[in-house]
Amino acid sequence: MSKTYDVVVVGGGIIGMATAYYLCRENIKVALVERKHIGSGSTGRCIGGIRQQFSTPAAIRLMQENIRLFSQMEEEFNQSVEFHQGGYLFLAHNQEMVEVFKKNIKIQNKEKVNVSLLSPEEVKEVVPHLNIEGVLAGAYCPDDAQAFPFPVLEGYRENIEARGGELFIANPVIDIKKEKHFQLTLADGNLLEASKILLSAGPWTGELAKIIGLDLPLYPERHEAVITERIPKFFEPMVVDYRPDGCYFHQLMSGQIIACYTPVPNVPGIHENVSFEFLPQVAWRMSRLIPELKKAAFLRNWSGSYTMTPDGNPIVDQSEIEGLYIASGMSGHGFMFGPAIGKHLAHFMLSGQWGADFSEFSIKREFKSKENMK
Ligand SMILES: Cc1cc2nc3c(=O)[nH]c(=O)nc-3n(C[C@H](O)[C@H](O)[C@H](O)COP(=O)(O)OP(=O)(O)OC[C@H]3O[C@@H](n4cnc5c(N)ncnc54)[C@H](O)[C@@H]3O)c2cc1C
Repeated sequence: MSKTYDVVVVGGGIIGMATAYYLCRENIKVALVERKHIGSGSTGRCIGGIRQQFSTPAAIRLMQENIRLFSQMEEEFNQSVEFHQGGYLFLAHNQEMVEVFKKNIKIQNKEKVNVSLLSPEEVKEVVPHLNIEGVLAGAYCPDDAQAFPFPVLEGYRENIEARGGELFIANPVIDIKKEKHFQLTLADGNLLEASKILLSAGPWTGELAKIIGLDLPLYPERHEAVITERIPKFFEPMVVDYRPDGCYFHQLMSGQIIACYTPVPNVPGIHENVSFEFLPQVAWRMSRLIPELKKAAFLRNWSGSYTMTPDGNPIVDQSEIEGLYIASGMSGHGFMFGPAIGKHLAHFMLSGQWGADFSEFSIKREFKSKENMK
């Protein structure tokens, strides 16, 4: 059966859901197609960190807007999304990283982000249980935040449906053609037609784009995470240890600790399995920083994808095929970038104009510069 829409969005992660939500607010006829269930890709597997500590004014401004958008969600969606400004504390264990922090903080302060460079003693005041052996400095922003992905996605879903958006769930797009309009074939045989489509399928975006002849510089890699049982809350910020054998973790309002690390070398491809080494490694890395964490028993471990680009910035743009938009390559930051990307991308898809500086996310850029706050 064939159905016609103004826009079809592919992918029920934060990027597709946020964009569909903002499109629906403009009374556009929208369909959103999801292969499995909403949040089944990277979004439901992320650890919910939201920070303004980036290295370019455009990314910083986008993140300032995202902090505002996340903070308004409880009222907008009429339910808590567990948004909490517990801060982010980055740790430098070598001089090179201290210099990176100093350079970034200058840019961030100019953008009026409340970030400061802390001495090891000041770092200890923020997280009293932290082992500061070898720590040379910290970059600390108390206004950075966290939120829980599932109620965020649920808030978008309810609002998309309330505004007439149609969801096709557990129903992957299996073919894409363009004649006068785009034609998307779904696994159940439905044919969706639209003059504009958005591929926001996270790590699967590259494969989907290939169906219609686009070769995009998108490189998924596996990232694992773990959550502990509840322990009494004793620290606030996301702690990020930048050493090659470092890790990053924060304590949820429930008391659970949620943690990740970036494996060296990375594990390319889309994988949803977990490794044998992750749990002992993450336990060692976390308890080296906060010995108190030895008391926290692991509850479960999972994995998902970061969809990387060569410069660590997303691709959010119209492709060379008119009417076909791409939003992927979030490079580990897609949850925090999601609401503002959705808002501005919806506006761009409807008006052809960006309401903010998205040049760093252009599909035509050279991919040479590097985001240094990974
Ligand atoms: C362990 C871990 C921790 C992370 N922590 C953070 C963090 O603290 N902060 C942060 O900002 N980011 C974090 N990230 C990154 C973040 O999760 C991603 O950048 C973000 O979720 C990407 O969202 P997305 O909408 O682009 O993709 P996804 O959430 O992957 O959504 C894409 C959707 O497209 C669907 N799809 C795929 N193919 C098809 C098809 N053919 N037809 C229909 N649908 C299809 C998929 O099923 C999926 O649901 C983390 C990621 C991981 C793995």
